[in-house]
Amino acid sequence: MTLHIYQARLLHYLTESDRTERTTSDHSQTLAVERDITLLPVIEGVQVYPEYIADGALVVDDMIGCIVEYGRSETILSKYANEEGRLAVKVHDYRDKLIMPGFIDTHVHYPQIDMIAAYGEQLLDWLNNYTFVTEANFGDPKVAHDTAQFFLNQLLANGTTSAMVFSTSHPESVNAFFTESHKLNTRMITGNVLMDQNAPDNLCVPTEQGIRDTQNIIDNWHERGRQHVAITPRFAITSTPKQLQMAGELYASYESVYLQTHLAENHDEIAFVKQLYPNHKGYLDVYDDMGLLGRRTTLAHSIHLEISEYERLRDTGTQISHCPTSNLFLGSGLFDLPKTLSYTGVSIATDVGAGTSLSMLTTLSEAYKIQQLQSNQLSAHQGLYQITLGNAQSLLLDNKIGNFMPNKEADFVVIDMGATELLERRMAQTKTLEEQLFVLMMLGDDRVIDQTVIAGVSRYRKSTA
Ligand SMILES: [Zn+2]
Repeated sequence: MTLHIYQARLLHYLTESDRTERTTSDHSQTLAVERDITLLPVIEGVQVYPEYIADGALVVDDMIGCIVEYGRSETILSKYANEEGRLAVKVHDYRDKLIMPGFIDTHVHYPQIDMIAAYGEQLLDWLNNYTFVTEANFGDPKVAHDTAQFFLNQLLANGTTSAMVFSTSHPESVNAFFTESHKLNTRMITGNVLMDQNAPDNLCVPTEQGIRDTQNIIDNWHERGRQHVAITPRFAITSTPKQLQMAGELYASYESVYLQTHLAENHDEIAFVKQLYPNHKGYLDVYDDMGLLGRRTTLAHSIHLEISEYERLRDTGTQISHCPTSNLFLGSGLFDLPKTLSYTGVSIATDVGAGTSLSMLTTLSEAYKIQQLQSNQLSAHQGLYQITLGNAQSLLLDNKIGNFMPNKEADFVVIDMGATELLERRMAQTKTLEEQLFVLMMLGDDRVIDQTVIAGVSRYRKSTA
């Protein structure tokens, strides 16, 4: 066992029960909550609190990949000093940096990294003209492995340590992704995309075959190491009713397999779904009828919804993934964050390749602007909470990742708040932590990520060359 102590400014978010545990433990003297902030609840009745320790230390066991404890640097260092006063652990001095839990992206398409920033279309034409053309290459395991490796390294360079990911309809694309993720020991969720209509022949897989592929992938990969499987119908347009129904049956037969798809992103898409399903009450009702809703379901976008649809999301516990840069890029519409949160859990995601950045900080910056256009606010604390503990809660992974509570997996990022000349100059003008965090949220991107640690092992270091 090798223990590592990371000395740094520490920032993370605590739930009410984490906070109770902290204040009642013998480490209570290290608790340094600057100010309680009641953030918008992600799950009804759940409040979270920022905890910031200016002179903090995070103790990590790299054998089991978990957090041992955290607290004020002075307390921690004296505790681990041996009789000669020397430390029996490896100390990493990042006192000029901020350490936060790793960022979590709840909706992103890894094969689309090769067609990010494709000009001129809205959703349905963009899919036909760019996406499907790119995804057709992923039956080739070499393309899939190379791209998965590149994509995962890009996530790490952006401080993202976990993600819920779309592969393609080829099982090879999923096997390649899980193989590369398993090597890095990143906690990831993906599955083969189910499509058996309204897509090119080279991407459509016969109805039962697609479901059998998902079944095999679950058998091979679900909860192997840190990998999880999601049943992944692309959306109502590209699956037959029979396939959606079979997907719903498969979902119901597992207690921990996820389900991910898209909902109500674009008006033409919604009209097409209504045309395909004239006897359903609306888009969400199609998924509801097929048994696709529930607490383990994440629906990307969900911009244009009726009140009855919000209510159904609430009643089923179905989670929404908000993808700001994608919504702006494809001109899909403005997502109402407070309204959606008043019904159900919302996570925040990049949705690359329609999204234009893998950086969760850049994504938050665009999320802020989308709320501004609707006279809503998104504070830095709420944003940073969302991309860490909030997204973990939405994916039911908050017992494993999302903050620094002891025994959680040691996925974290070392952030250089003054990584650029502009950031350095602007930070010098700030007077409060909130101000600094807001500047980080608006101006930060991959350049502020100094290091990314996965389960206690450093997997990315910014080149200083
Ligand atoms: Zn998407």
